[in-house]
Amino acid sequence: MNFPIGLLIQASYFAAAFLFIFGLKRMSSPVTARGGIVWAGAGMVVAVLVSLAFASPENPQFKTNLALILIALAVGNAWAWWQGRRVPMTSMPQMVALYNGMGGGAAAAIAAVELYGAHAQGYGPQGLALLGALIGGVSFSGSLVAWAKLEGKMQKSIRFSGQKILNALVLLATLAVGVWILGGLTELKVSLFFAGALAFGVLMTIPIGGADMPVVISLYNAFTGMAVGLEGFVLQNPAMIIAGVLVGSAGTLLTILMARAMNRSLANILFSNFGEVDVGGGEIAGTLKSAEAGDAAIQMRYASKVIIAPGYGLAVAQAQHKLYEFVKLLQERGVEVKFAIHPVAGRMPGHMNVLLAEAGVPYDIIFDMEDINNEFKEADVALVIGANDTVNPAARTNKASPIYGMPILNVDQAKQVYVIKRGQGKGYSGVENELFYRDNCNMVYGDAQKVMVQMIQAVKELGA
Ligand code: NDP
Repeated sequence: MNFPIGLLIQASYFAAAFLFIFGLKRMSSPVTARGGIVWAGAGMVVAVLVSLAFASPENPQFKTNLALILIALAVGNAWAWWQGRRVPMTSMPQMVALYNGMGGGAAAAIAAVELYGAHAQGYGPQGLALLGALIGGVSFSGSLVAWAKLEGKMQKSIRFSGQKILNALVLLATLAVGVWILGGLTELKVSLFFAGALAFGVLMTIPIGGADMPVVISLYNAFTGMAVGLEGFVLQNPAMIIAGVLVGSAGTLLTILMARAMNRSLANILFSNFGEVDVGGGEIAGTLKSAEAGDAAIQMRYASKVIIAPGYGLAVAQAQHKLYEFVKLLQERGVEVKFAIHPVAGRMPGHMNVLLAEAGVPYDIIFDMEDINNEFKEADVALVIGANDTVNPAARTNKASPIYGMPILNVDQAKQVYVIKRGQGKGYSGVENELFYRDNCNMVYGDAQKVMVQMIQAVKELGA
């Protein structure tokens, strides 16, 4: 009996696709997210193994290719493992940008090979390969620029007159070369096409400001997915098509959600200059009043209800463990404590949820902005720890502010607000925060972790 090898391959790809989708589903809750990564990873292992196991051994270069693939896999995995373990949480967007860019580059490389290979023959497959190469190339070079900006290795925003026209011309010229390639393949045309795609990725990304970079990374993530999906069609590889479509659609949704949480359109993110200009925010009435960490802690100890608004500074200080220790002390003394999470707090979606989960904070005291915003007016104390833009009331009232219209946490409505930050540093948008000048607000200056240690000490000294 002939073994139905084709059926086995299709069944394996189906299993891989199932694992991808199952893993993605589990990533939708912080409780199951860790397992979700493992399931999706298992899917990828299945897809890679099946592709390798059923590659054509009759190909004269099979052994050399297999050896090269295994070497690349070993080097890539070792590097990713080492980097993944040592990267700090605050550098996660850069790492995602880098890995995502590699995905786009790989899709473009597949297209380059297939243009000369057996699969991309005829207008249809060749057109798909070229489209995937264009999107993958843009994602590759654009992601590298995004990485360099977030790592501080490149000037944040580069703008010059006529930039949009130049960008449009480069894109049109690249598309024209693509059509030219359909008329007949030459190395010159292919080189021009790839140079155009890479140049467009760079040109499109250099004017975008730092605060918008995570949204742009998410957009390139969607691009990479699309590129991989298109090359999957060219190669007739179901696992690539499904993985590409999943990444493409998840990246697109994430981009839309992030832009919406900042109350901005994608066009505004790609073509405006948010996060770079020091726009001030007009004259702010009131004065900054500082408070001692111990005094703030004592007031919270005797409060009935405390709501905590964490932000990027909590991640910088890595103060989540000390913060939870402090919360437990308050809870043991009968204080009701809740966490309020702004959708764009920190530097990546879910940043605060990940930090709090790392410290073991139970999910039932963590609330999304829309679920808790009405409770601030009943809170005795709102504790802002390393957050700035996400609690800036100018977003509600100051039409001149670049963050005008962004929904914010209503911390200013609490009876008393304490803000923990190191000094006069602004938030990522670069605007002044009028909350800090309000009558009901006091600043507790210092690194968030050091302040939390002092607060814990103060509550302990008061006794049970
Ligand atoms: P912000 O970036 O507005 O402010 C962080 C504050 O933390 C700073 O003002 C800084 O003040 C303080 N800080 C830094 N280090 C420490 C430390 N070690 N200890 C104590 N405080 C510290 O944070 P938010 O989370 O409120 O806002 C996030 C911003 O990022 C928004 O503008 C959002 O739009 C943007 N963004 C977020 C994305 C996401 O996906 N989460 C995506 C795109 C953009 P000081 O220097 O004085 O200490």
